[in-house]
Amino acid sequence: MHIAFIGVGNMGGGMALNLVTAGHDVRAFDLSADALARVTAGGATAAASAGEAADGADVIVTMLPAGTHVRAAYEATLFAAARADAVLIDCSTIDVETARSLGEAAAARGLAMVDAPVSGGTAAADAGTLTFMVGGPAAAFAAAQPILEAMGKAVIHAGGPGMGQAAKICNNMILGATMIATAEAFVLAEKLGLEAQTFFDISSKASGQSWSMTSYCPVPGPVPTSPANRDYAGGFAAALMLKDLKLAAQAAATAGASTPMGGQAESLYQLLVNNGFGSDDFSGIIRLLRG
Ligand code: NAD
Repeated sequence: MHIAFIGVGNMGGGMALNLVTAGHDVRAFDLSADALARVTAGGATAAASAGEAADGADVIVTMLPAGTHVRAAYEATLFAAARADAVLIDCSTIDVETARSLGEAAAARGLAMVDAPVSGGTAAADAGTLTFMVGGPAAAFAAAQPILEAMGKAVIHAGGPGMGQAAKICNNMILGATMIATAEAFVLAEKLGLEAQTFFDISSKASGQSWSMTSYCPVPGPVPTSPANRDYAGGFAAALMLKDLKLAAQAAATAGASTPMGGQAESLYQLLVNNGFGSDDFSGIIRLLRG
């Protein structure tokens, strides 16, 4: 297929290259020449604009920073440039309302569109092992599924337009809050004289267990692959966790949902980012809790 890929940065670059590997003809556009150079070196073609990339494409994928960029790209260019039978896939993490309104605007034009945000960082984007949470009509989901499968290990239909984003921010709100609770517990255990490894051995098999503890433990040692073992470098940046918690707070305000734990998590990640640790992995919040 001829696939237009708009936004080939840290995530989109690896994703576009996996589409090339799957045998697709990928035409990429990005404002950054460096980002474009990486994908052209891997076999994609560079387009001079989003419209040129989308012209005649079977599929259009976007992987952009935030809702404002996504809205601008679709409303200014992509809706008009898309073929009537093209499949439109936005993989960016954006606010539910923008995703929902763009999905509805696409449907009103007779275009198939899904919001398909991802779980998994740049390593999963490069390896083609992302999880996609997809919102949109059933027919649009069915059309997008084989393309998403070339970039991920799981593709799940979450519901109508915007529901992929809803699933993503609800999931990450749990993640932000459980990471803080887990980190607090390790600091308290430390201060009480309980060995971190011993506490892990007990709690990972007891009711305190969570992904934050057993896959991403915030202290070095118990889980050798967790970012704590490399001084919190790489991984899922605290600034991106803060972005997702802000999106969750915005959605909660619109929907009239009480999310006090999500709100606390947002405040603490804001403090971490304000202190200059935005590019560290989000499990580095334990350093803030230690004082
Ligand atoms: P990034 O900044 O590395 O990439 C975004 C790219 O979009 C950049 O290369 C930028 O030049 C380009 N861009 C911006 N405006 C554009 C426009 N109008 N036209 C064309 N290109 C444009 O960001 P990223 O880390 O790849 O993240 C992309 C999205 O994925 C974000 O919504 C982020 O929240 C989400 N996400 C990121 C991660 C992660 O670990 N990095 C994980 C899950 C989800």
